[in-house]
Amino acid sequence: MSAPTPSDLAYVPFVSVDHMMQLVHHIGIETMLRGIAEYVEADFHRWELFDKTPRVASHSKEGVIELMPTSDGEVYGFKYVNGHPKNTKEGLQTVTAFGLLADVYTGYPVLLSEMTILTALRTAATSAMVAKHLAPKGARTMAMIGNGAQSEFQALAMKALNGVDHLRLYDIDSNATEKAMRNLQGWGFTLTACATPEEAIQGAQIITTCTADKQCATILSDNMVGAGVHINAIGGDCPGKTELHKDILLRSDVFVEFPPQTRIEGEIQQMPEDFAVTEMWQVINGTAKGRTSDSQITLFDGVGFATEDFSALRYVRDKLHETGLFQQLDMLADPDDPRDLFGMVQRAKS
Ligand code: NAD
Repeated sequence: MSAPTPSDLAYVPFVSVDHMMQLVHHIGIETMLRGIAEYVEADFHRWELFDKTPRVASHSKEGVIELMPTSDGEVYGFKYVNGHPKNTKEGLQTVTAFGLLADVYTGYPVLLSEMTILTALRTAATSAMVAKHLAPKGARTMAMIGNGAQSEFQALAMKALNGVDHLRLYDIDSNATEKAMRNLQGWGFTLTACATPEEAIQGAQIITTCTADKQCATILSDNMVGAGVHINAIGGDCPGKTELHKDILLRSDVFVEFPPQTRIEGEIQQMPEDFAVTEMWQVINGTAKGRTSDSQITLFDGVGFATEDFSALRYVRDKLHETGLFQQLDMLADPDDPRDLFGMVQRAKS
């Protein structure tokens, strides 16, 4: 990033929830999911450039609050995100987030954005980008287990990137399934509401688990998973919060984002420290194998990594000037003489 002029730095572009929704409609959600997936994949290609650290988590009995920082050496980014499965019962989101990009040269912020919607978009875009590499060729049917806030985004990304057009939906709360069925009408899917997870996975080549429960749950048990499927397990993303029986992991080839974080938070927290996994960036740049046979079970143990948020924020930033969908936020003190911060405060009195 070249050195910006002081006038560029006085205000920080801010993308509100309202502007993010307008951006989704302006671009079109499927185009936006494909666009974000391209940015996520491009940053996986540049993997070795990034500062990488497991996210910084503050756990409580009810949930978790996390910071997810990274940098490519020119731009720094972080996301603030929570995970509170009990929130929906109180009329609140399980996951809310906001994020920031900053210029490494000056340290000044260059974008502040809502990321509740953007997290749903980037998680779905990442799932679909990974499935493009790992799912059986020609997969058109997906079981969608967990029909909450993330679910429609997951479905649309799998359609936009991979041509999935049959969805089999299941949630322990039938109201959630009804909501997802309603929202996904008219998007080109054949939709089936299922009464059990066993029914949902019938004939599915891709199984997405996207449930929220603060426990080691068994959404899928070993006998439910047939040869050749791709499992997109994204709901288990915290210590003590998993979705799959560990025997499934023993039969699968497991693909992860950043192993030091996934070993803490992912399905593989159930396995020994040296349990073999493949890093997705290596599949993407061709140095590791993805799917190698029709009978192989591929499992994406997706917990969400900081570079994916960075990619999504980069995408949003690149759209700002063509759309104007942002406001300028007065969040940086800008005295004429940089050392006269006190004088600026005094002069404001008048
Ligand atoms: P949500 O609370 O809106 O929806 C979760 C749904 O799971 C609810 O409808 C609930 O009824 C259902 N559910 C709970 N237990 C179930 C079970 N045993 N069987 C079937 N359904 C069950 O949450 P959300 O925002 O959709 O997020 C879902 C999960 O994904 C959360 O755990 C969240 O932390 C995680 N998440 C992961 C990533 C990532 O990058 N991997 C990103 C965002 C969210």
